[in-house]
Amino acid sequence: MLDNKCVFCKILRGEIPSAKVYEDDEMLVFKDIEPKAKVHLLAVPKDHFKLLADMDETRAKVLSHMLAKIPQIAAQNGCTNGYRLVINQGDDAGQTVFHLHIHILGGENLPW
Ligand code: 5GP
Ligand code: ZN
Repeated sequence: MLDNKCVFCKILRGEIPSAKVYEDDEMLVFKDIEPKAKVHLLAVPKDHFKLLADMDETRAKVLSHMLAKIPQIAAQNGCTNGYRLVINQGDDAGQTVFHLHIHILGGENLPW
């Protein structure tokens, strides 16, 4: 289920352009518009939910699928010497888009 106002749902529906690097039935991976590292990708499930706390069994399977695909996607996009995954959860983490997503950061030695 997608959300009308959510920016990532708009990207999933093709209403906002994005630099896609991978897509399948469960997920879309595209470049972050404000990259915080040389390689900064966002992996987004094709289902709108905000938090890991909103997970059910179906969503857990999707997340598991995403995690299984990420190593190859990261390597193909320039993360050949490691990378970092970040999933911001809520206000204290600075989450700004309330559609669960996995940041994939790398392509350089991360300074933090
Ligand atoms: P959060 O802070 O919620 O964990 O991460 C949201 C991320 O989405 C930010 O890194 C931000 O740069 C990225 N972002 C926000 N709007 C857009 C957009 O329209 N297109 C793309 N490609 N990235 C976006
Ligand atoms: Zn959404």
